This record gives sequence, structure tokens and C-alpha cells, in this order.
Amino acid sequence: MRRIAIVGAGQSGLQLGLGLLDTGYEVTIVTNRTGDEIRQGKVMSSQCMFHTALQTERDVGLNFWEEQCPAVEGIGFTLVNPETKQPAFAWSARLERYAQSVDQRVKMPYWMEMFERRGGQLIIQDVGIEELEQLTAEYELVLLAAGKGEVVKQFERDEARSCFDKPQRALALTYVTGMKQMSPYSRVTFNVIPEVGEYFCFPALTVTGACEIMVFEGIPGGPMDCWQDAKTPEQHLQMSKDILNKYVPWEAARCENIELTDAGGYLSGRFPPGVRKPILTLPSGRKVFGMADALVVNDPITGQGSNNAAKCSKIYFDAILAHDNQTFTDEWMQQTFERYWAYAEKVVAWTNSLLLPPQPHMIELLAAAEQNHAIASSIANNFDNPRNFAPWWFDPEQAQRFIESKSCQKVA
Ligand SMILES: Cc1cc2nc3c(=O)[nH]c(=O)nc-3n(C[C@H](O)[C@H](O)[C@H](O)COP(=O)(O)OP(=O)(O)OC[C@H]3O[C@@H](n4cnc5c(N)ncnc54)[C@H](O)[C@@H]3O)c2cc1C
Repeated sequence: MRRIAIVGAGQSGLQLGLGLLDTGYEVTIVTNRTGDEIRQGKVMSSQCMFHTALQTERDVGLNFWEEQCPAVEGIGFTLVNPETKQPAFAWSARLERYAQSVDQRVKMPYWMEMFERRGGQLIIQDVGIEELEQLTAEYELVLLAAGKGEVVKQFERDEARSCFDKPQRALALTYVTGMKQMSPYSRVTFNVIPEVGEYFCFPALTVTGACEIMVFEGIPGGPMDCWQDAKTPEQHLQMSKDILNKYVPWEAARCENIELTDAGGYLSGRFPPGVRKPILTLPSGRKVFGMADALVVNDPITGQGSNNAAKCSKIYFDAILAHDNQTFTDEWMQQTFERYWAYAEKVVAWTNSLLLPPQPHMIELLAAAEQNHAIASSIANNFDNPRNFAPWWFDPEQAQRFIESKSCQKVA
């Protein structure tokens, strides 16, 4: 039986570990927090996942919350006019297939229990170089799926594939109940506030039941980069409301009666997006293979990290199975990562494009979506597969052609 070790019990590590167990592999997961610590701790993400990523979970029987979790049925977009403080334009479109967000504090502890119940070995330990040495001595393949943990900095940064070396947004999450629902369909309401940042929110399932997650993306040094002043959960909630009142009053109107879901239902922080090289060579010369956020970390502005982690897990799972009884060489690791990067590259490019001041053709595309529902629908549904934004999102001429092609469709 092949023996595989995974460091990190998050979206990618657990999904891969559970999948491999079911196919007869001997799998050990080493992670630094117990299920109870996760469940009782603070929120970590807004983790909205679109259809294709959700399907990778269904394929390995991990969609335990599909019935309970509210569906995200569409995407709405508003650009705020900085002078009038009113929407310059706004539109929304339905997703062809719904998205869902299950709080990682609900999902990961349960998946950890499942992993042990199905015969996996779960070890609680903080892993550094020494522990990686021990694991690589014992297992045929060691995967590092430690997300944004310090240990992943051991992978060399890939300068050619990285755009930024500093955080591009001051991030905050506020999990709430009591928000007025959008009708006639639920959606991510995405608001761009020039020179301030972005605010979006959507329904989700948390430790206390259904909720809405508010996500704040403040431009560093700008007025939404303010979370250091919120010292208590109550102050964090108040600051969330104050920001909405000031910059997006139509969103504030939905929030008159909001309350935090629980004492851990808030977060603030920042990290630099970037890409790392996939193979770590330990002092012994043995190798560790990275996956998901450990290698490719995106700003949450496009809500792609968990989607990427699930898709990465699926690609690695297929590659491990296809490799049968052969040795996991450097060449196999590099090729497997490149298969993932063939998907992730455009997701990263699209996400990074939204972190910079938007180019005029991007504004034109977003404005055209207000007039033409086919364009709105394409933009909304491409959140499920951002590769479909190429080439027209990235190139002014292609953008023009895309708008014209959709206008023809409308006339027809
Ligand atoms: C504010 C915010 C909002 C987000 N919103 C979204 C969204 O809406 N949609 C979306 O798709 N993504 C979103 N993401 C990103 C998403 O949460 C991550 O991309 C995803 O969880 C990455 O999965 P992973 O398996 O790589 O790592 P993680 O899920 O982070 O798991 C890492 C695991 O490794 C463990 N670990 C870390 N260091 C060590 C160590 N030294 N030893 C042992 N174990 C270790 C951790 O405890 C954890 O179990 C958001 C992220 C943030 C910060």
C-alpha cells in the first residue's frame, strides 16, 4: 500500500487525504490545530465556492452541508461614483449553478473526524524542517498543504510568476445575522469604491446556522485600512456598519439589525499575494511537494482561494492515481504542479488585475454589462472558471470585440 503524508488539514489537504483514503492509500495528515480549536476559534475565510469546485467535493462524497447551506444564486456589481457617492452603474446576473460557502470552522473539524473514521492517521503537531525530514524519511510522498503558515515560506518565491511583494488590501471579515436578503435571488453584492477599496457580501453557513459574510478589501493606507482601531468584536461590528454608511449606503440599509454570529465571527489582517516554486529540497536532499495556497496565494478579492485549493486537490489526486506504483520524482512533481498552474495562471492574472486601478477597457466591460445582460451573465458565470475571462478581460481590442459580439447576440 502506498504511504502518503500531508501537512495541513485545510481545504486542499483534507480533500486530497480523504480522496486518497477512499482509493486504498495509507494517508497521514499532520496539522497544527485540533478540530475543537478550529471550531471554537475565529473565522479564517469567506470561502465562497462555485459549482466546479463544489463538484470536486461532491465527487469524493464531502458535500455534507449542501442541503443546510444557503445557495448563492447570482453576482451583483456596483461601481461607486466617487463624486456623487451614488452608483455609477449597477447590474446583477444569475449563476447557472449555485455557489455555497460553508464556514471552515464547520467544515474542517468534521472532515478531520471523517478522515479518522475512515482509517486515516491524524497527528496534531506544528511542522517545521525537522518534522518534514522525519516525514520524508517515512513516507513515499510528503505534501505541504499548510496554506499561509510560516513553514510555506521555505518554498522559493517564483519571481517570474509573482506580481506583488506586499499586501494589496487590508482585509476584514464580519459574519452576521439579521441582514435583509436580496431578492428575487440571493447573490454576492460586489461594490467597487474607487481609491477606498471593495465591499462584498453573500449568504453562508456558519457554526450558528445561516448567516451573511461581509468582506472588506481596503486599499492600504486608505480610509478602509482602519481595522487596527477595532479592539473588540463590538467595535469591529460598529466599524463595519460605519464603513457601509459612509461609502455604500444601499448596503447599510440592509444592515440596520445585524449582529455578529458569534464571538469568533470576525477577522482582520493582510498578506501579499504571490507564487512559489513547487518543490522544497530539505537539508537531507529529500523533497517536499507543495499544494494550493502554500504555492499560489491569491488576494480574496475574487473569492478564488478555496476554489483553487479544491481544484488543485483534484489535479493532484488524479496525478497520484495515474502514477500507480512509480516513484514520485522531481519531474513528476514539477509536471503535476504545471498541470495545476495551467489552470491557476489566468485566475491569478484576473485577480491581480482587480487589485490595480482598473484599465479603461475593464470599466467599459463592466459598464456594458449594465446595458447587455449577456455580458453580465458571462462575467458572473466566469467566477466558476476565470480562465474564460481570457482574452477579452486582458486586452482592449479583444474587449471591444467581445462587447460587439454580445451586442450582435442581443439583436439576434
Ligand atoms: C479574508 C479571506 C477571505 C477569503 N474568501 C474566500 C472566498 O470567498 N472564496 C475562496 O475560494 N477563497 C477565499 N479565501 C481563501 C481560502 O480560504 C484559501 O485559499 C484556502 O483555505 C486555501 O486552502 P489550503 O488548503 O491551501 O490552506 P488552508 O485551508 O489555509 O489550510 C492550511 C492548513 O495547514 C495548517 N498548518 C499551517 N501551518 C502549519 C504547520 N507549520 N504545521 C502543521 N500544520 C500547519 C493549518 O492549521 C490548516 O489546517 C479567503 C481567504 C481570506 C484570508
